Amino acid sequence: MNPAKSYDVAVIGAGVFGSWTAYVLRKSGASVLLVDAYGPSNARASSGGESRIIRMGYGPSEIYTRWSMRALPLWQHLFAETGQPRLFQRTGVLWMMYGDDPYALATLANLQKCGSKFEKLSLAELRSRYGQIVFDENSWGIIEPASGVLLARRAVQAVVEQARKLGVEYRDAAILAPTGEGRATAVSTTSGERISAGTYVFACGPWLPQVFPDVVGSRIFPTRQEVFFFGVPAGDTRFTQPAMPTWINLHDEYYGMPDIESRGFKIAFDRHGEAADPDTQSRIASTEGAAAARQYLASRFPGLKDAPVVETRVCQYENTSNGDFLVDKHPRFQNVWLVGGGSGHGFKHGPSMGEYAADCVKNDKVKEPLFSLATKAAIQKRAVY
Ligand SMILES: Cc1cc2nc3c(=O)[nH]c(=O)nc-3n(C[C@H](O)[C@H](O)[C@H](O)COP(=O)(O)OP(=O)(O)OC[C@H]3O[C@@H](n4cnc5c(N)ncnc54)[C@H](O)[C@@H]3O)c2cc1C
Repeated sequence: MNPAKSYDVAVIGAGVFGSWTAYVLRKSGASVLLVDAYGPSNARASSGGESRIIRMGYGPSEIYTRWSMRALPLWQHLFAETGQPRLFQRTGVLWMMYGDDPYALATLANLQKCGSKFEKLSLAELRSRYGQIVFDENSWGIIEPASGVLLARRAVQAVVEQARKLGVEYRDAAILAPTGEGRATAVSTTSGERISAGTYVFACGPWLPQVFPDVVGSRIFPTRQEVFFFGVPAGDTRFTQPAMPTWINLHDEYYGMPDIESRGFKIAFDRHGEAADPDTQSRIASTEGAAAARQYLASRFPGLKDAPVVETRVCQYENTSNGDFLVDKHPRFQNVWLVGGGSGHGFKHGPSMGEYAADCVKNDKVKEPLFSLATKAAIQKRAVY
């Protein structure tokens, strides 16, 4: 970073949202500084996990289906550009649905309306295709054959690498919130340096409430989330691709993915955990969480009932009140944007968020009311899954 230089935009936070925003802004001609306190897609960041699901189904939320459909080819294009096409793994995504559950029916209708490819599977078809999974009597399924898994940490690093190649300057630094009101002329690092830009985008994920306690403090709820990887039995191909797809069971609140890159069969509990501080929370998974995951595994994937835990991760969701993202201006500054609230489902949307946030910044205009600060309540009532 050149301290005398003023950038068009300084993006603070090199997680999936900030990295894509910086990349898209640079592509549109802006001079961009990207800054992160701990490094792109670091181990504390919400984007720092090994893998994240990209799926098109979103119940009744058409906007997220469309964003996801837009994002997947952009991810694939970027991976091709960086020579790493396997950062997307086309595992297919299997939804385990039940009876006439409204979310399930809305997912079907929405996929159809948006023209996303899917197949509806009866219980008999589920059982014959996936003999390694136990399905309940009133189950049916949706398979999204073109969806799958993004290798998250490396994917974000690929975005940053590509952004730097295009001229984005990257810097390790922790940034303090601007003071005063009106137009922010500069922001300071914790070591006292000044960074000057025309516009500031704070894409600080679960740190947003700490950076802006007065504005975001009561509107984003970071929660502890544990992830377990179970080692598949030696030589057993039932839990790897192509036999095993990525799967989601919202009824049980579990989701998981096949053994990718031989790291183990991933399983995670989607219910929001306890409140978490992204700087200091323990990254050691709980024995209760491991026991619950094993119990679930034994009931749904009995071939893995004795599988050992080979890896664990602890991360945090950064939930808004209902799960809709936050992209809005800071109420006291004309040139400070807040971008976040990924709410446990944001990763896949990185490219769409990059395009959307860059457009808001360039046109100095808030577009989508769903993402406004005003819609972010202080009480959690999850509606987006
Ligand atoms: C266990 C788990 C599973 C998930 N599964 C999925 C999934 O399957 N599919 C999906 O689409 N999404 C999923 N998500 C959600 C998704 O990962 C997040 O929504 C997304 O990664 C959030 O990205 P972000 O850029 O907003 O935040 P982050 O990745 O946390 O990035 C914020 C960055 O800001 C930096 N920062 C913070 N404060 C400052 C400061 N003051 N100065 C400088 N830098 C700062 C941090 O170091 C960090 O790198 C999951 C999340 C978790 C935790």
